[in-house]
Amino acid sequence: MKILVAAPLHPKAIELLKSEGFEVIYEEYPDEEKLIELAKDVDAIIVRSKPKVTRKVIEAAEKLKVIGRAGVGLDNIDLEAAKEKGIEVVNSPAASSRSVAELTWALILAVARKVAFADRKMREGVWAKKQCMGIELEGKTIGIIGFGRIGYNVAKIAKGFGMRILLYDVIKNYERAEEVGGRFVELEELLRESDVVTIHVPLLDSTYHLIDEEKLKLMKKNAILINPARGPIVDTEALVKALKEGWIYGAGLDVFEEEPLPKDHPLTKLDNVVLTPHIGASTWEAQERAGVQVVEKVIEILKQKKE
Ligand code: NAD
Repeated sequence: MKILVAAPLHPKAIELLKSEGFEVIYEEYPDEEKLIELAKDVDAIIVRSKPKVTRKVIEAAEKLKVIGRAGVGLDNIDLEAAKEKGIEVVNSPAASSRSVAELTWALILAVARKVAFADRKMREGVWAKKQCMGIELEGKTIGIIGFGRIGYNVAKIAKGFGMRILLYDVIKNYERAEEVGGRFVELEELLRESDVVTIHVPLLDSTYHLIDEEKLKLMKKNAILINPARGPIVDTEALVKALKEGWIYGAGLDVFEEEPLPKDHPLTKLDNVVLTPHIGASTWEAQERAGVQVVEKVIEILKQKKE
């Protein structure tokens, strides 16, 4: 059986495919025309957030049985077209949870202790000790919006920091909340009470601009907002205003309403915000897990279909 790998995949994942006797064709991010040509006689296609597996590609792929997406999110795959043709679509959503949670903490600490600001000043030759007074986390309250895979991992680390944990989610996993010593509250209470607010919900109609001007005004003056989920969950214009006018202490952002973040964006002019270029899942470990887990699922499906 032939498998088209259309995006960079961890070498261990490729080895696994080969060791199971599959023929692997590798083409990095082909355009639609090339993908149609390559997809014609393959049994499976494996992608990441790119390339797009469109209806045209799916309809041209006569032997296609499964599409694998290494990582989370399936927005680059035409799910409707795949369903119509009985093609299975699999991904590896849990592969990066720990890595995103750890980046969340990198951002929390960087904002709380002004790490990025201090580093910038050091490089300018400025010993900015007085301007770098920070916030200690032990005994403070963290509010976790979205207590799913990533939110849970963030909470486990928060426990180690000795923080009080408030949780907000439409689904309430009380067992996990008890395990981390967290308590479910309404969103408004979480925003009013928390010293650190961190967002881990998916982008849906119900979460678009979930954090807007009104919500930012509920937060404490010395609170930190972290968004490693999706840019449009926070109203950027309102956040810039909040950071400029001191409604909150600072923010750490890994995701943006527009990515890449435009050069000279107002956020880049502010010292109380730490910015990273959507690197939550960018660790060797997460990438290895994302590749291997999706390949395992693809192999399992192909074996079932063969029987
Ligand atoms: P998950 O599905 O395990 O958890 C999301 C949680 O949000 C669920 O418990 C769900 O019930 C809750 N939720 C959904 N809608 C809600 C709403 N309107 N109000 C309150 N709670 C709501 O997802 P996850 O794996 O923890 O990932 C969370 C998000 O992190 C992803 O959707 C993605 O946007 C983002 N993410 C970012 C990166 C990165 O590189 N920065 C990497 C992976 C994932």
